[in-house]
Amino acid sequence: MRITALAGGVGGARFLRGLLHHVRTPQPTGPAPHSLEQVELTVIGNTGDDITLFGLRVCPDIDTLLYTLGGGIHEGQGWGRADETHSLAGELAALGAEPQWFTLGDKDFATHVYRSQLLGQGMPLSAVTQRLSERWGLGELGVTLLPMTDTPVETHVVVHADGDDAGQRAIHFQEWWVRHRAELPADRFVVAGLDRAAPAPGVLEAIREADVVILPPSNPVVSIGIILGVPGVRDALRGTRAPVVGVSPLVGGRPVRGHADVCLRTIGVEETSAGVAGLYADFLDGWLVDEDDPMPDGRGLQVVRRPLLMSSVEAAAEMAGAALDLGMRLRAERAPA
Ligand code: GDP
Ligand code: CA
Repeated sequence: MRITALAGGVGGARFLRGLLHHVRTPQPTGPAPHSLEQVELTVIGNTGDDITLFGLRVCPDIDTLLYTLGGGIHEGQGWGRADETHSLAGELAALGAEPQWFTLGDKDFATHVYRSQLLGQGMPLSAVTQRLSERWGLGELGVTLLPMTDTPVETHVVVHADGDDAGQRAIHFQEWWVRHRAELPADRFVVAGLDRAAPAPGVLEAIREADVVILPPSNPVVSIGIILGVPGVRDALRGTRAPVVGVSPLVGGRPVRGHADVCLRTIGVEETSAGVAGLYADFLDGWLVDEDDPMPDGRGLQVVRRPLLMSSVEAAAEMAGAALDLGMRLRAERAPA
C-alpha cells in the first residue's frame, strides 16, 4: 500500500511516527494491519521554513521529520537532537556571531554542515535529503522523505514595525516564529521563490500514484499551505484517484502547540476545523476532528470524530489508524464493483 503524506515539522512528524507504529502493531482483533513490507510511506516535507545561518543551510521541518522518524529527536522539545550539547553555539556567541535567537546543538550542527557541503558540491536538496535519510534508517522503515522542492524557497512574514502601518517590512518566518513568538502583528505571508519552484523529483508521482493521501495535523498555513503552493501540487491532489484524508490541528478549538490560530487569522480564515477544512475543500475527502469539535458534517466531506491529542506514540498511532481506516473505506466505496 502506498501512502503519501504532506508534512511540516513537529505535528507532522509525531503523527507519521504514530502511523508507522500503527501499521506494525498487532491489533486486539488480529495481526498488525499491514506489515512494513506492504507499506510504502512517502513524506513530502515543507521547505518554506529553511534558512541560512552561519553560512549553513538549515531545514527545520525536514530535520524534525528525520530525527523523529529515525529515533533521534529531543522528545520534550519536539525538535532538535536528544542528548545534545551546545559548545559550538557557545563559542559563536562568545565571538558575537548573529543570530543568537535560533538554538542549534552540536549534533544538529553536523547535519547542517554536511547538508551545506553537499549542496555546495551541486547536489540537489532531494538527493541530500536521501543521504540524510540513510543515516536515520528511513529506507528500512519503508519511508521515502522528499523535500517539496529542490528550488530554494523561504517563507517571509510582512510585519508592522512598531504597529506603524507605514513601517512594513518582511522578516524571515523563523525570525517571526522563534524570535518574536508570532507576537509581532503580521499582515501577510510571502513565500520567496515559490512561484518559480518546481516540485522535487517524485513529489507529483507520489500524490498521483498513492492509494491514500494523508494530511497530518501540521500547520495549515505555514506548513501544508506552503507545500500546496508549489506549482503542480494542488492540481495533483485534485486529480489523484486516491482519497485525501486530513487531520485537524485544532483540539478544543485551539492549536495544540505553535501559533496556527495566529496564522489562520493573518490569512483571514476562521480558526476552526471547518475553517481549516475550507482551505483544502477542493481536494479533501475525509476529515478527522477532535471528539468535541463543533464542526458540522456534510457537503460531501466525511467527518470522523476521534480523540486527537498526540499525548504518546500510542495515541498518535490510534489517530493515524483512524485516518488510514477512513482513507481505506473511502477507497473501497470508490472502487468500481
Ligand atoms: P511545525 O512545523 O514544527 O510547526 O509542525 P507542524 O506544522 O507539522 O505541526 C504544527 C501543528 O501541529 C500545530 O498547528 C498544532 O496544532 C498541531 N499539533 C501538535 N500537536 C498536536 C496534537 O497532539 N494533536 C493535534 N490534533 N494537532 C497537534
Ligand atoms: Ca515548520
